[in-house]
Amino acid sequence: MKNSKAYFRGCLLGGAIGDAYGYPVEFLKLGEIREEYGMNGITELVCNEESKKALFSDDTQLTTFTVDGLLWADSRAKNKGIYAYTSCIFYAYQKWLYTQTGSFADEKYKFLLEGEVLNWEDLFARRGPGTTSLVTLANCINGKYGTIKNRINNSKGSGAVMRAAPVGLYFYNDSKTAFKIGCESGAITHGNPSGYLPAGCLAFIIAEIIQGKELEQCVLDVFTELREYENYEETYEALKQAVTLAKSSKDGIGSSELREAELADLHSLGSGWTGEEALSMAVYCALKHPNDLKKALWLAVNNDGNSDTIGAICGNILGAYLGSLEIPFSWIEKVELSDLMVHGADKMLEAVT
Ligand SMILES: [Mg+2]
Repeated sequence: MKNSKAYFRGCLLGGAIGDAYGYPVEFLKLGEIREEYGMNGITELVCNEESKKALFSDDTQLTTFTVDGLLWADSRAKNKGIYAYTSCIFYAYQKWLYTQTGSFADEKYKFLLEGEVLNWEDLFARRGPGTTSLVTLANCINGKYGTIKNRINNSKGSGAVMRAAPVGLYFYNDSKTAFKIGCESGAITHGNPSGYLPAGCLAFIIAEIIQGKELEQCVLDVFTELREYENYEETYEALKQAVTLAKSSKDGIGSSELREAELADLHSLGSGWTGEEALSMAVYCALKHPNDLKKALWLAVNNDGNSDTIGAICGNILGAYLGSLEIPFSWIEKVELSDLMVHGADKMLEAVT
């Protein structure tokens, strides 16, 4: 069992670090990354000149609000017997909307201003917030939001999966529920199954990691759960391809050829702008280097695709798997708001143990 501080912190810190690592090159192709950073690509967290910190993007900001929603739901469940995880996550995302636009979708949501999380001023920075999440949340009035039954749109962007890891931490001893709440939290803004199902998959994988399972087993187990949901095929195929490619052996080639071969495999999985691709690419990187966070994250961000999101998801997975003690301390020092990640992780652990 990995239900201890090191693994909960590892999950959130790893995600923030992967996100910050990829954020400067989010929209660059591999060739452009190499032009700017040299043939080895980007190999370190890049610090902002003013704050001297490596800045993360909307992925980690939203993940922080997922934590906030779960903690609120937890206290309501314990104090009032009200179990409303998805609606609390929805209201937490309204707080995120407020940080990005200065307003809520509905005047009635102004009570949310009292939330503790809004005291972290740095969360108000705009770091490429996803349009789907911004626009969809801005239209959710009267407490109404997207669900799996009543889909709010047909978006399958990566914006749902990138914020789902905390659901796996919270429901670590019940991976089936982690999957379900992961999907529901995704469906708040993303109505296409390939948008919300990967969010369920990520929550499930994180839960199983915390249960102490081997990484590959956690991924293999998710296939069974995924098949219980309608329209699972696209996510299923993407993830299956990641597992197959990660297993393919590349014996007998030198390290630089090996790196190119891994990059080619990753490239064949897509570009990570959709939910199922972002998940499968992150899973490929994690399975390829399950005991080496540096190598896995290098691969996750140095590619043509959605570097910050693939980095964030891969960092969530391996951070939970390896624990915070395996994350280079220099990275924890460099990434912004690492104290908020630790605070959120510890609060979550306190709530569930
Ligand atoms: Mg981002």
